[in-house]
Amino acid sequence: MTAPNPPFTSVHLPLQKDLSLANRLIALMPADDRAIFLEHSEMIELKVQTVLTRSGENSDHAYFPVDSVVATLLPGNSADGLEIGLIGNEGMVNTSLVLGVRDCAFTSVVQGAGRSFKIHRRSLQKLLAGDSCLRIVLNRYIDVRMSHLAQQVACKNSHTVEQRLARWLLMTRDRAHANELFLTHEVLARMLGVRRESISQSARSLQRHGLISYTRGYVMLMDAAALEQVACACYRSDLAVYERTLRQPREINGQMSAQDAGKALL
Ligand SMILES: [Zn+2]
Repeated sequence: MTAPNPPFTSVHLPLQKDLSLANRLIALMPADDRAIFLEHSEMIELKVQTVLTRSGENSDHAYFPVDSVVATLLPGNSADGLEIGLIGNEGMVNTSLVLGVRDCAFTSVVQGAGRSFKIHRRSLQKLLAGDSCLRIVLNRYIDVRMSHLAQQVACKNSHTVEQRLARWLLMTRDRAHANELFLTHEVLARMLGVRRESISQSARSLQRHGLISYTRGYVMLMDAAALEQVACACYRSDLAVYERTLRQPREINGQMSAQDAGKALL
């Protein structure tokens, strides 16, 4: 089998049909706030390996992925840097702008091609300065990201490469909306901050137990439920933090309107 480019393609799990609701942060806003946000943003196509932000450099845009996946990297000794996060339709890229900082905290590189909303810094700041629910949502999202980063540190120090590989494969699956992923050894090693040999060993073990099929950068999740059992608790913990902090309207109250849900976030 020949691994195509981009690294994630194949079988996308169903996305929200209404693309204005496909990014979960945008979907959390009441309809009128969401409409204003959409007026100030545009839908773009992101290509693999496109650098959206560079650590320490100015950036004028923030991105809200729809079905694209963006890796956040911390520049380090290696050529690619250490991967510290994956952002899909649950999040946004370039939270520095929310905090009024133009120098980006992280480098962000498109890892999975797809669509994303893009908004200019000035438009974002105008919305954040108004009475839009956007600030409440994004403040809460930044709190989630901080929690995830702390979890990441604990994960690296406490869990095995196999547990962490299972976790990152599931995280990638969730953001790419696909059970088939194209991930090279290099990308996986960067994700986990380990040597490629460690990735090979752990991938072989997961394959031996029938959880994944892995051939020359092509990964198929054969049994995601069983993979969750192998993954460290950080995977579930990250999801729980997100759901608790950024509650979906239906989870607050099935009958509550989006407007009420926005207020409930206060
Ligand atoms: Zn962990």
